[in-house]
Amino acid sequence: MTNTKMNRRDFMRKTSLASGVLLVAPGIYGASVNTAQAQTGAFDYIICGAGSAGCVLAHRLTENEDVSVLIIEAGGPEEGVEAISTPLRLLELWNTEYDWAYFTAPQKHCNGRNIHWPRGKVVGGSGSLNGMLYVRGHATDYDNWAYQGNPGWDYESVLPYFKKSEDFDGGENEYHGVGGPLHVTTDYERHPTTQRIVEACIEAGYKFNEDYNGADTEGVNFAQMNTKDGQRHSSAVAFLRPALERSNLSLLTNSRVKKVNLDGKTATGVTYIQDGEERVVTAKREVILAGGTIESPKMLMLSGIGERAQLEEHGIEVVHDLPGVGKNLHDHSLAPVIYEGDVPPPTNLAVIPLHAQAFMRSDPRLPAPDMQPLFFHVPLYTADTQEAVTPSAYTLCAGGVSPTSRGELRLTGPNVDDPLMLDPNLLETQYDVRTIVENIKMMREVAKQPALAEITTREIYPGPEVQTDEELADYARNSVQSYHHQVGTCKMGNDEFAVVDHELRVHGLEGLRVVDASIMPVVPTGNTNAPTYMIAEKGADMIKESA
Ligand SMILES: Cc1cc2nc3c(=O)[nH]c(=O)nc-3n(C[C@H](O)[C@H](O)[C@H](O)COP(=O)(O)OP(=O)(O)OC[C@H]3O[C@@H](n4cnc5c(N)ncnc54)[C@H](O)[C@@H]3O)c2cc1C
Repeated sequence: MTNTKMNRRDFMRKTSLASGVLLVAPGIYGASVNTAQAQTGAFDYIICGAGSAGCVLAHRLTENEDVSVLIIEAGGPEEGVEAISTPLRLLELWNTEYDWAYFTAPQKHCNGRNIHWPRGKVVGGSGSLNGMLYVRGHATDYDNWAYQGNPGWDYESVLPYFKKSEDFDGGENEYHGVGGPLHVTTDYERHPTTQRIVEACIEAGYKFNEDYNGADTEGVNFAQMNTKDGQRHSSAVAFLRPALERSNLSLLTNSRVKKVNLDGKTATGVTYIQDGEERVVTAKREVILAGGTIESPKMLMLSGIGERAQLEEHGIEVVHDLPGVGKNLHDHSLAPVIYEGDVPPPTNLAVIPLHAQAFMRSDPRLPAPDMQPLFFHVPLYTADTQEAVTPSAYTLCAGGVSPTSRGELRLTGPNVDDPLMLDPNLLETQYDVRTIVENIKMMREVAKQPALAEITTREIYPGPEVQTDEELADYARNSVQSYHHQVGTCKMGNDEFAVVDHELRVHGLEGLRVVDASIMPVVPTGNTNAPTYMIAEKGADMIKESA
């Protein structure tokens, strides 16, 4: 085999449409499809889910050539899918084969609406579908995790893991790394309307922040993006593809983990479903769940690990009573504020129509910004925005990023295909409603500034008739949508509802960890992909140290 990379690519292309394929690094089994190896084989580590976290774990664990790793993904390969690699095409991916396309239960405090939650069902996971904004959050987010019973997760301790992943085009400094697998770019063409929005924020009195992943998040900024050479740079591209060149990594696609197999209180492997058939594979050291905030708790519950009453209700044998599984579900919220104006359409395929944002405080006494408005040079329609407006519009999307409402997810049946009941309990608290209302008002002030007033003809949403706080709160309940940052369902901590400890081991069990966004006890006050990478980097080190 003279050109390993070429052969692997050809091989992936050939098999990308087939279901249930095991992609093996050529050195170990030869460039052949070999499902039998997985069916009968044993691996040191089995990673369940090849999303943002799973791909980082696969990369780091296989750095030790003496360990074998199997990573199992429910979706198919992402390589060669242009709608995934082309930044501007991201919205085309929703409601396709690459999207789990969840909907929440009717939201009691949002006038009974069911809210769409796209999540990646493909190699790269939600990182193959996401907006590519690279945002870490505020230092106090992590200090707060540590205060909640998680030693080693304060900002000073996690900063080296953010830097470890990174290849920052702005160069190395106290806050940024270079030479890591993940490209972080500031070098892309800004849309003229986005430039005006940033200018208007400055005119309204907000400071410009050159680097919100640096000393402080506060102010308006142009986003740092996970793109490279104009293409999406997901964890599949940055971490998994290079690791697939190693002989000790195997990737199984179109295969869904049904449950973790246990011997008493020790994980011994998993049962997965491939082509409609159940298969078993053994883990010699550990099983690591990386299915994300929605599927990791489901895998636990289907394995008999969860709240006793809920498991018994569905006839699932209780292996370990762990009441916090699926609880503490929460998310960031957005409410669009849309203006009609003289806005050129987006044409640059390498840039998404959202590449500026701000971090703002609803109260100057808060330790960190609790609002993250997003600036789109397109109208951000939702199923709930009724009026057909010109595409020549822009959106100042109000955003609440320190939510206090908490919900849960629950099983509706004992089978892997039974849908989950997803209830984030959005806008339950007055604080969450007030944050959105205040941020809408701040966005209206920004839109009045000269840089935007020059191109704006009218406010479309909420609309000039919506003025009082009560009317704005009603608008928020009718229009709020997800910022796609669901976390918390396998939270890390040491209280009654904690699912994993500070080393990400499932409480009360051996050989089983959860390493993904679900372990965040509280959502950071920024996007969740960079924090997920950090969790996986730190998790990989913990796994290596305990081997
Ligand atoms: C539309 C959208 C836009 C977003 N925009 C941004 C953004 O711009 N910036 C940002 O920081 N964050 C963004 N996010 C959030 C961010 O992408 C997620 O927080 C992050 O990807 C979570 O990583 P994860 O590893 O926990 O889960 P995921 O990346 O979702 O990975 C889970 C993987 O596990 C697989 N899986 C699940 N169950 C099983 C099973 N039983 N067997 C096998 N495989 C399984 C899934 O198919 C998936 O591939 C966005 C998310 C979405 C959906």
